[in-house]
Amino acid sequence: MDRKPHVMVIPYPVQGHVMPLMKLAYKLADHGIKVTFVNSDSMHGKIMAAVPEKLKEKIPIILVSISDGSESNREPKNQLEILKSISSFMPVNLQKLIEDINGLNNDEQISCIIADVSAGWALEVAKKMGIKCAAVSPYGLGNLVSQLQAPKLIEAGVIDADGILTKDELTCLSKAVPGWNMKELSWSFPGVPEVQKLIFAHFIRNLVEHIKISDWLLANSFYELEPLACDFIPDALPIGPLFASNHLGPFPGNFWPEGSICLSWLDEQPAGSVIYAAFGSSAVCNQQQFNELAHGLEILGKPFLWVVRSNFTSGLLAEFPDGYLERVANYGKILEWAPQEKVLAHPSVACFLSHCGWNSTMEGVCMGVPFLCWPFYVDQFSNSTYICETWKVGLKLIPDENGIVTRHEIKGKVEKLLSDTDIKANSLKLKEMAGNSISEGGSSSKNFLSFIEQIKQ
Ligand code: UDP
Repeated sequence: MDRKPHVMVIPYPVQGHVMPLMKLAYKLADHGIKVTFVNSDSMHGKIMAAVPEKLKEKIPIILVSISDGSESNREPKNQLEILKSISSFMPVNLQKLIEDINGLNNDEQISCIIADVSAGWALEVAKKMGIKCAAVSPYGLGNLVSQLQAPKLIEAGVIDADGILTKDELTCLSKAVPGWNMKELSWSFPGVPEVQKLIFAHFIRNLVEHIKISDWLLANSFYELEPLACDFIPDALPIGPLFASNHLGPFPGNFWPEGSICLSWLDEQPAGSVIYAAFGSSAVCNQQQFNELAHGLEILGKPFLWVVRSNFTSGLLAEFPDGYLERVANYGKILEWAPQEKVLAHPSVACFLSHCGWNSTMEGVCMGVPFLCWPFYVDQFSNSTYICETWKVGLKLIPDENGIVTRHEIKGKVEKLLSDTDIKANSLKLKEMAGNSISEGGSSSKNFLSFIEQIKQ
């Protein structure tokens, strides 16, 4: 009997990881592969709540969820409890789910598991059950290269066993990745060393092992974007850029409903005039910093579209400066969550004021939009180094001596960016390279087709 490939896709359950894995799941479905996408119960609930009811039945993949144990912890939550809960509950529940699916229908058994490198426990389950598996780096290959160096860095005494740099100086093991200083390690969390240690312990320490047990390593990147990093891991298959908007039908990856009304607002703005400001799903700033950002956008006097999540100001509802919303009403549009890919593709967008999460970085690069970089933590620092120094498609905002990015810094840098024709030209070149890589015969397209062929066997 012919066995249809049935792939299970498992993200680490946070927004910036669910999104690219969902894009990958859709791409697999486009190629006729049956896909079951496994989320944690709570993230699944958020995603489903953000998809309009009438569109749910048009989703071309199967969305299921398993418990991450959070409901059985009475009063969580610090980061450590959440991480521990995920890594102790999800593997057991995942194995049970696979056994249940495989017990149901013999010719649609799970034939391959594709899991986020940050969900190494899922790769371990695949291995234990004898199922082929692919690890996915949702944050590109340069960041992965630097993470894979961690054991060597510990051995050389450059970082300690908790991943903390022993000296505050620029380190560079390879030309493949931007230099690393205290803030550029892709597990860095400035000002909160306990969180940095947790990230290192849970996501980085066993990475080499998790990649070793995987049959493939995929990445949301493309060869021409980071050739040196790709050469460093020659077996890796960069298959990006992954897009949501290339697919028909609803795309269920958002934790918040999209405010699509902003697209008609963008239609009314002059071409190349709008500053788009968005900081991903989890970056937070304090109220003082929020005010500076608000004033920075105000004093520029140009149209702006600003995503302000309800938890953007240190988890509290943001308070706009007195009279602010009235003063900017004629040129500023503020919303809680935007259809970001579509916004960046809109001709009226001039630049992207971004925290430089890898997804945002890829999306801006692919749409040819110059960046104003404002990294907060983890890989955002090295991504902004890529943007400003390697690809030369953006400028970095520099905080003042009190760690605040002032309104004048924002105004000055936006104006400088918008008048820089070299940066705009580089951005358009990169956009073309991104498009070529996923076109027929392009590097990512070939990698993806070769992967599909292999998992169909
Ligand atoms: N995003 C979105 N609307 C928004 C802000 C972000 O759709 O208003 C999406 C964005 O397109 C990206 C993801 O959320 O795909 C954020 O991922 P990223 O890696 O940039 O940042 P993270 O959330 O992991 O910090």
